[in-house]
Amino acid sequence: MKDLLDPLRSDAGHLSEPDRGLSAWLPLVEDLPMYFWESDPDHRFSFVSQGLERHLGLNPAERIGVPMMGGTRDLSFAGPRFQKHLAVLSARERYANFCFEKEVAPGQHAVLMTSGMPRHASDGTYLGLRGLTFNLTRAVNHAERDASLVDQIRARADALELELLRRNEEVEEANRLLTEVLDEMSEGLLVTDGDNLLDPDKRILMVNEGYRKLFGLEQGDVFPGQRLEDLIALLTERGDAVDGDDLNDLEHRLMKGDAVLMRIPSLERSYFARVTRRSAGGLIIMHNDVTELDQRNAELERARDAERHANHAKSNFLASMSHEIRTPMNGIIGMTDLLMQTALSPEQAEFVETIRNSAVSLTDLISDILDFSKIEAGHMNLERVPFGLHELAQDMSRMMTPMAEAKGLTFELGWDETLPSAIIGDKLRLRQILTNLVGNAIKFTEAGKVSLLLRKTGAGRLEILVSDTGIGIPASSIDTIFEVFRQVDNGWQREFEGTGLGLAITRQLAEGMGGTINVSSKASTGSCFTVDLPLLAVNREQPTPDRSDLEIPDLSEFKILLAEDNQTNQLVVRKMLGATGVYLDTVAEGQAACEAVAKMAYDLVLMDLSMPEMTGLEATEIIRCSELDMGRKPCAIVALTGNAFEADRSKCIAAGMNGFLTKPVRLATLIACLSEQLFSDPEIEIDLEDLCCADRRAARP
Ligand code: ADP
Repeated sequence: MKDLLDPLRSDAGHLSEPDRGLSAWLPLVEDLPMYFWESDPDHRFSFVSQGLERHLGLNPAERIGVPMMGGTRDLSFAGPRFQKHLAVLSARERYANFCFEKEVAPGQHAVLMTSGMPRHASDGTYLGLRGLTFNLTRAVNHAERDASLVDQIRARADALELELLRRNEEVEEANRLLTEVLDEMSEGLLVTDGDNLLDPDKRILMVNEGYRKLFGLEQGDVFPGQRLEDLIALLTERGDAVDGDDLNDLEHRLMKGDAVLMRIPSLERSYFARVTRRSAGGLIIMHNDVTELDQRNAELERARDAERHANHAKSNFLASMSHEIRTPMNGIIGMTDLLMQTALSPEQAEFVETIRNSAVSLTDLISDILDFSKIEAGHMNLERVPFGLHELAQDMSRMMTPMAEAKGLTFELGWDETLPSAIIGDKLRLRQILTNLVGNAIKFTEAGKVSLLLRKTGAGRLEILVSDTGIGIPASSIDTIFEVFRQVDNGWQREFEGTGLGLAITRQLAEGMGGTINVSSKASTGSCFTVDLPLLAVNREQPTPDRSDLEIPDLSEFKILLAEDNQTNQLVVRKMLGATGVYLDTVAEGQAACEAVAKMAYDLVLMDLSMPEMTGLEATEIIRCSELDMGRKPCAIVALTGNAFEADRSKCIAAGMNGFLTKPVRLATLIACLSEQLFSDPEIEIDLEDLCCADRRAARP
């Protein structure tokens, strides 16, 4: 049989353009990886085209008579498919695109795809098949390569999935660890969504075991996803109300970031709660159990209360003691002051001076003890009266020089001429500061000098420098010497006597005057204490009462009532005021004072506070009310008392008094106070309506 392609090829040469018939494509057919064939009725090759040689490398002549399906196997290696094809062949039916694999040479396989159709003679006799077969080996190889790429991708994806699983396990492990740690924590932890605690829709995102334990809750009582409001409702229903605070106020404080102490009486526990905002939104609420700390605090508070009570009792005791001592001291000092105003021989003057100095020292000692109790009780009572500063400095020099010289030291006083000679302040207290500092300087100096320098600073303040060439203060003690009962205790200072109160009082006084005290010191070299105080100069009209330059004012146009039960003190005041020419009446009792004021319009009443029957405070109230009833201008009332506490002063002012003098009253202070009250408009306006409220008057017969 001749090659099927040959007639086609020769036909193609005669094709006229544009011929779109099959023959036009024939030249391309040779390039297709395929061959034509025919079989006999027994399905042995009867013809094979040259394509077999070209595309499979097999000789067509050698194929003639060879069974068509010999040496072939099913591409899918699946028998049933091949069996089915054999059945189609034996049924002599047409088939298309059957794929199979053929061993074309030992070890060399080709993948083929074949289609065939039956051939019949004109009388219908079956002649065999005619077909064509494509060699798909190259295409299949390409596809296999592509398949391996897909496999690679699939393998990579599998590896990634494994990696993902591994990571997931790691994350889960970390999560387990975190949960374990959070649950082991004794702190209660609650994490919620939203940014506002008060938001009713806020939900719990996380809660740890610590939280459940703190509040005695079960798993089902608090859980992620729960509304915070429902949890609060549960706690409230159970009776776990927070003590004291209103819930809204508590929430506001928490949202401000405060650590808030919550006491829950029903659980007998106290918690510190704190809220922090999460950067990703939401809140972290931490609860710490501070029950024991809180209980200890409460115990401490109780102890402190008891101590405060005891202190109060001590202060009261000291106040009454000081009153008892101050009253006779008033007599002694007042009388010596008066005695010094009389004509005395030099020897007598010296004796009187000695009595006076002793009395003043004794008063100072009482003052020191009282000061200490006042400092402890937080009371401080400072006068603002004009006095001679230069005089005070010279007094100090007179007093301290002999003390220094007795130890072989020199004492120097430095005075800045730009300072005013008189200032307003509390002379006794300033004197106390100077005595303490200069006294210490002398006490702690063995050789060299002690100096006191008063000067005006650039800032217009009064600066007092007390320096010495003494033992100095070691750096380790410098911060504590101003504390009560603190003394430098390094063995070699034990020889010095003292209570450790002086500097504490001094600092308290300096600060009470609106100033500061500082020290610079070097052990074995010396110390320098610096007190810085506000400087209040006296204007010209103000009297500057001092013993030596005391001018007795003419008070003959005024009427004063003295209410004082102690006869010595009555005499002292009477004598002190004698030179002023003032009209003075005396009563020994509160009720009598009221009656006297009702009868006569006094300009001023000097009122002792503790009198029998009716106290000075009660008498003052009655006088103020009767003035209102009579429509009379209120007179000045000045307290005269041995009680030197600030609280007493406040009580006097509240009762309607204008001034306050403590015993022992000094001539200069009394004169200054009376002048101030009588000549100037009272500093404290007395509002009678305010003082004597209607119901108080109604209650009185
Ligand atoms: P005391 O009554 O003990 O003197 P103070 O309060 O006045 O109490 O002083 C406290 C302590 O400070 C003193 O005991 C002393 O150790 C130290 N001190 C005070 N002033 C001086 C000074 N000028 N030189 C050295 N040490 C001083």
